[in-house]
Amino acid sequence: MKTTQNSSGDVRLTGIGKTYGSFTAVHPLDLTVPEGSFFALLGASGCGKTTTLRMIAGLEEPSQGTVSLGDQDVTHLPPYKRPVNTVFQSYALFPHLDIFENVAFGLRRRGLKSVKKQVDEMLDLVQLGEQARKKPHQLSGGQQQRVAVARALINHPKVLLLDEPLGALDLKLRRQMQLELKRIQTEVGITFIHVTHDQEEAMTMADTVAVMNGGRVEQLGSPADLYENPKTTFVANFLGTSNLIDAEVDSRSGEEIVLKAGDGKLVLPEARCAAPATTGGRVLVGIRPEKITLTHADDAGGIPVGRNRITGKIAATSFIGVSTQYVIDSSVCPEFEVYVQNVERDARLVPGADVVLHWSPAHTFGLDAAQD
Ligand code: ATP
Repeated sequence: MKTTQNSSGDVRLTGIGKTYGSFTAVHPLDLTVPEGSFFALLGASGCGKTTTLRMIAGLEEPSQGTVSLGDQDVTHLPPYKRPVNTVFQSYALFPHLDIFENVAFGLRRRGLKSVKKQVDEMLDLVQLGEQARKKPHQLSGGQQQRVAVARALINHPKVLLLDEPLGALDLKLRRQMQLELKRIQTEVGITFIHVTHDQEEAMTMADTVAVMNGGRVEQLGSPADLYENPKTTFVANFLGTSNLIDAEVDSRSGEEIVLKAGDGKLVLPEARCAAPATTGGRVLVGIRPEKITLTHADDAGGIPVGRNRITGKIAATSFIGVSTQYVIDSSVCPEFEVYVQNVERDARLVPGADVVLHWSPAHTFGLDAAQD
């Protein structure tokens, strides 16, 4: 029996990389996807996420490194010999076959005769039992996508790879399908690895997200961790909107870092700072727009000076449904964005109004101002 350190069903990439001529699409990376997890590779177009997925599928030969699945090194196995299956954005359903036969395809190819029970179960899982005798063109985009998922799951792969599977759907349907895919994954319990450029999609579905940039994994973590504790400006900006204040380190107490920004003082917990933060050096202090309290200057007398209290003037406002977005001119951050829930809106907060912004130190994060 083979001895190995990867004895569970984890997907493990070890030093895996891909070059095309002199161009490096994926720099050598190490990544472990725990068995049974919903894992997302998230990044902008061209960052190498599809190439990484295709190396796991066996559709792309890595230039270096290994791919293992459980205790099996699959690096040199062809795709059909790997216990994985892939769902593509294009669905790739057979137009002349009905839904039942599309889902049954993988079983019939293996020579199985009695497929009804398994296909019915799979159609129930994706809630398409009623549509079994329809042809693909008679279904909606979301339903077709669910057929593609059922077809990919029928042979019980250990890992399901999803390459931008919701990219062709409109926003509303995409949101429904995100929840649907999450439900299906929880029910079948196998590992899903999902490629997307949509941060909301990755955060809604995945237990763990790898944020990729320029062929590298920039940060790995749970959606909440990545959002609340980004380690680089790329991750901070890719996952939502960040206000980044370039501030000078004034002092450190061991628990908190005090920084100067314009005429204000900022406080950042040491544990939330990813930068070296030497006294006199610079740190980018980040604060998410919805974590800020916006107060009309006339009412701000009780807000203590010196702890994350910044003054400014409203430059613009826009109504965005559940909240209103304010853009604030301030001396420390030229386009400070603040979101205020509409129930808390103050009618005096209009362009030109003098305001005070303040927030809890617990909601800030510190980034290296020297990084690119
Ligand atoms: P998208 O979301 O646009 O698909 P991606 O993050 O999935 O982007 P990849 O498809 O992995 O990116 O491509 C990564 C880089 O490698 C891109 O710059 C792409 O142009 C390049 N690339 C991909 N396939 C090849 C190839 N066969 N030959 C040369 N370059 C390639």
